[in-house]
Amino acid sequence: MPDTNEPTPAEVVIIGAGPVGIFQIFELGLLGIHAHIIDSLAQVGGQCTELYPEKPIYDIPALPVCGAQELIDRLIQQTKPFGATYHLGEEVTEVQLEPSGKILVVTSAGTRLLAGAVVIAAGVGSFQPRRLALPGIEAFEGSSVHYRVKSAADFYGRDLVICGGGDSALDWTLALCDKARSLTLVHRRAEFRAAPATVARMRDLVASGKMQLVEGHAVALQSETVAGVEKLSGLVLQTNSGQTTLQVTADRVLAFFGLHPKLGPIAEWGLELEKKALKVDTEKFQTSVPGIFAIGDINTYPGKKKLILSGFHEAALAAFAIQHHLFPEKRQFLQYTTTSPIMQKRLGVAGTDPN
Ligand SMILES: Cc1cc2nc3c(=O)[nH]c(=O)nc-3n(C[C@H](O)[C@H](O)[C@H](O)COP(=O)(O)OP(=O)(O)OC[C@H]3O[C@@H](n4cnc5c(N)ncnc54)[C@H](O)[C@@H]3O)c2cc1C
Repeated sequence: MPDTNEPTPAEVVIIGAGPVGIFQIFELGLLGIHAHIIDSLAQVGGQCTELYPEKPIYDIPALPVCGAQELIDRLIQQTKPFGATYHLGEEVTEVQLEPSGKILVVTSAGTRLLAGAVVIAAGVGSFQPRRLALPGIEAFEGSSVHYRVKSAADFYGRDLVICGGGDSALDWTLALCDKARSLTLVHRRAEFRAAPATVARMRDLVASGKMQLVEGHAVALQSETVAGVEKLSGLVLQTNSGQTTLQVTADRVLAFFGLHPKLGPIAEWGLELEKKALKVDTEKFQTSVPGIFAIGDINTYPGKKKLILSGFHEAALAAFAIQHHLFPEKRQFLQYTTTSPIMQKRLGVAGTDPN
């Protein structure tokens, strides 16, 4: 979308769809405020989903034990009545306070929103793929070299090299093996960090000659010029056994080396930072810029503890502050979900009290 496009008006934009950002949808929804939520990842859940989906969490109130992915699923369920608008797979690159007091939010996909308030719930930052560190790689990233699969069909009929030894590398090896013209899996070690059944199926494919497995790592790219355009043509691999080098034909490379968090563009939005975290007050959880709030792992204040529980509390108080910011003339009073007809209407449970 070109920059000249009129931005879409939004009451609130939440940056980051980790557990705390998702819960912010709920707290705003109870107050009748609609949210857009943006995450650079293709799925919601932040650290819970990305780093430890299978691990049990023991310190969520009233849930003696809850799997990290289960917590995210429950949060999504809880926010359903409020119909937030999701923008996934988009990194927020720009947040700018306009003279009108509204805040312009721009994403890597060209989405432009003009928000009454912004909540930054960006955790430890944007998760970025670890890149293949080879000289000249930049020229091929996004065209021949990829760190995630946007469309599987891009790899059909190609000479494909997949690098990595985790679930993503193995799952895509199995999915693309009979679709690619040739497939080479390159992994530094003999052991894989993937489901044993998947590894066994990959080894069967190697044994039947449908793909090759190289224990080693890529050391150089090879390219050729076709009709004036430089195209990727192969990879030079260094094998672990005997340190020999090997050349493989490749016009597509998929590298799955995991993700690492990066504060990224947040540092450039003119907000006061302390040790890579956004400074906020503990009444409103507002940053140094009016209308821009920060909750969860991304913020700092005296006594801050990076816990999901703390983030939930921050989301509740930020919601009241945001309501006041958007509607300063509105009288605020605390209502309970157990007894408030208006909140129950918003939750879609009005009239369902069994008592
Ligand atoms: C192994 C492990 C175990 C843990 N166990 C517990 C536990 O038992 N109990 C507990 O309370 N806490 C635990 N934690 C900590 C807990 O996971 C974090 O406190 C929590 O995830 C913070 O939530 P958040 O929503 O603030 O941020 P995150 O979960 O980090 O989510 C932030 C999201 O923002 C997105 N984002 C960042 N920048 C941008 C941008 N510019 N544009 C778009 N999107 C962006 C990121 O992609 C990410 O999805 C654990 C953490 C780890 C790593």
